[in-house]
Amino acid sequence: MTAERRLAALEARLRDEAERLAYPAGDWVVPLAGPPGQRVYDVAIVGGGQSGLVIAHGLMRDGVRNIVVLDRNPEGLEGPWLTYARMAILRTPKHQVGSDHGLPSLTARAWYEATYGPGSWDAVVRVGREDWMAYLRWYRAVLGLPVRNDVEVVDIRCEARWLALSTLTHGVPGTLHARRVVLATGYDGGGAWRIPPVIADALPPERCVHANTVIDFARYRDRRVGILGHGAGAFDAAVAALQHGARSVDLCFRRAVLPTVNPHRAIEFVGFLKDFCEADDALRWRVAHHFETHDQPPAQHSYDLACSLPGFAMHAGAPWLEVGMADDQVRVRTPARRFAFDEVICATGAVPDLACRPELRSLAADIALWRDRYTPPPELASAAIGAHPYLGRHYEFLEREPGRAPQLAWLYGYNFGAAVSMGPHSTSISGHKYSVPRSLFLEQQDDVLARIAAHREPEITWPPLQSAAE
Ligand SMILES: Cc1cc2nc3c(=O)[nH]c(=O)nc-3n(C[C@H](O)[C@H](O)[C@H](O)COP(=O)(O)OP(=O)(O)OC[C@H]3O[C@@H](n4cnc5c(N)ncnc54)[C@H](O)[C@@H]3O)c2cc1C
Repeated sequence: MTAERRLAALEARLRDEAERLAYPAGDWVVPLAGPPGQRVYDVAIVGGGQSGLVIAHGLMRDGVRNIVVLDRNPEGLEGPWLTYARMAILRTPKHQVGSDHGLPSLTARAWYEATYGPGSWDAVVRVGREDWMAYLRWYRAVLGLPVRNDVEVVDIRCEARWLALSTLTHGVPGTLHARRVVLATGYDGGGAWRIPPVIADALPPERCVHANTVIDFARYRDRRVGILGHGAGAFDAAVAALQHGARSVDLCFRRAVLPTVNPHRAIEFVGFLKDFCEADDALRWRVAHHFETHDQPPAQHSYDLACSLPGFAMHAGAPWLEVGMADDQVRVRTPARRFAFDEVICATGAVPDLACRPELRSLAADIALWRDRYTPPPELASAAIGAHPYLGRHYEFLEREPGRAPQLAWLYGYNFGAAVSMGPHSTSISGHKYSVPRSLFLEQQDDVLARIAAHREPEITWPPLQSAAE
């Protein structure tokens, strides 16, 4: 059987499974009248990456269908997978589930076997990066999710009964209204990828880029490249530079030894994945502190590949103490030696900073952060943890000062900014199974009695009663 026919069969099976599990299927959210001539969506999801898609599907299955997903990237290029991620395979174990909402035919495995043939899954160690994006594209198409690409949300404002989103579509401004907005804006959605200021201020921008941006690696041909960082992104950038003909890559990091243990594997158990957000503030801060001080190692395959390439060198215990330009070269001093590079790549991760997010420019100042709500013992102090939003149990933002912006409860931070409140896993692939199901019911509670009382649909019919006299 061809892949085309297997996929068609899978899609038929999926429709059947969805129908069997559909109850109760009806729409139930009472529509809200908007400004004259304008629609009010029940939910607008900002970000059409995997989280945005999975949330959209969850809402539709729950009978919330007046929704829209907005993504600033062109169709098929949402998220990191085909833009700035460079690894061959995902880091997530292949047996993870969650995007499927309990439908076996919607799993990555089902799609993979339909695409590559029966038994093909057994040979997979981890899903390939490009395959993962192909799966997400299929997921969106087969479910008919209402995604609009090339739409960037550049501001969100609170209005009396809804949130108003300012958008730019190919540069053309627009406005959209929604009673709830989910920010599914990704790993940097609670801040920004950032080059340490001491490096960014010392170098011309064309000589120094962040690893998590789209890079034309052809420009590194015959160049000496310095990389700062030891995560997967650092090793993947090293591989890409060398494969594009870089003369040398020196990968430097501060730690005395490369970490080997991945702390994320330790939290992959149901109790944590499901209920971590119920833990008290002290424990949640401690967990965030553990993840701040125990980095993930690079993925094995990225490490092995980089080390196998001529021109690659790794330097532990090598923080960049001084950085500057001299004779058109980047000069770097570490505790043990000095380097001269032509180009620099910083694989230095993201910083939490709500104020730098365009979509939050009107609201960031009113959002409660961890530093507003919890003071850790001095040995666990961390400005970075304190800068994360202090979210409610449903990912909703909370007000810093009660009464200033109560509508913040209509805005949900389903991105990596949620890591302290909801757990480091919660918006990654392995967290979806437990983190996505949330509901609009509370907003509808005022209408619920009227709705029950107004119910008139007969469930049985019978012949008109004969009166006793007849
Ligand atoms: C190099 C790399 C490798 C990774 N590997 C893994 C892995 O193996 N396993 C794993 O679980 N996680 C991995 N991650 C983490 C990964 O980012 C997330 O798991 C996954 O992408 C999260 O999906 P998401 O939908 O939440 O965010 P994303 O996939 O990042 O999608 C967010 C979307 O929001 C859009 N967006 C942002 N702001 C706006 C705006 N203002 N207006 C409109 N659209 C906007 C973006 O265009 C983007 O498409 C990796 C991350 C990186 C950087």
